[in-house]
Amino acid sequence: MADVRLLVVEDEEHLATGIRFNLELEGYAVEVVGDGKAAMRRLAEPPAFDLVILDVMLPGLDGFAVCRKLRAAGNFVPILMLTAKSLPEDVVSGLEAGADDYLAKPFELEVFLARVRGLLRRRDWARNGGVAREGVLQIGPAEIDFEAFEVRRDGAVHRLTLLEAALLRLLWQNPGRVVTKGEILEKVWNLAPDTETRAVDNFIVRLRRYLEDDPKEPKRIVTVRGAGWKLVPD
Ligand code: CA
Repeated sequence: MADVRLLVVEDEEHLATGIRFNLELEGYAVEVVGDGKAAMRRLAEPPAFDLVILDVMLPGLDGFAVCRKLRAAGNFVPILMLTAKSLPEDVVSGLEAGADDYLAKPFELEVFLARVRGLLRRRDWARNGGVAREGVLQIGPAEIDFEAFEVRRDGAVHRLTLLEAALLRLLWQNPGRVVTKGEILEKVWNLAPDTETRAVDNFIVRLRRYLEDDPKEPKRIVTVRGAGWKLVPD
């Protein structure tokens, strides 16, 4: 498993050392950097990491900014964000910045390792296409490739994050049925169904840009007022 490469971005040295030690015991190859700018530099160089463990409170560029910049630059490496407190605002900010999962400090080692394994597994699962035959799904003129994390349409290619792919898959697994925001928060984000956030709405807007002829008049991902969304197949 030495070819699974993790980057830890954490400025508290004793914590970084502890995290590295325990991840290495699990068999991962681990690098540590102590601030956001160093993380951006490191992530711009090949070879790619399999997972980034990203602290929110960092000197200079904070974890939210690192996350947003990476996503804006088209880097969709899975990100586990470490929030200082279990503040729902922090969690939501992290997810809206494009993180794939979060963990509040202080955390139990076993919980942390389980989250790392979970994210790596989700990556493998999404790559292997899950229930999609050959990993490719057709919705109208759009082709969704769960293996390559891409939506291809009219010659354009859009990259999907893990969470975008997971949300699209959840909708697709329930064709014609309304999927509620609470259900999405639970199944895609691992959050309590009543969490206050616009994250789901923002993701729906993004998916519509990939799938709809006119994102303002959606025909594929339809809003059912007061209930949720449903995917309308051909
Ligand atoms: Ca910190």
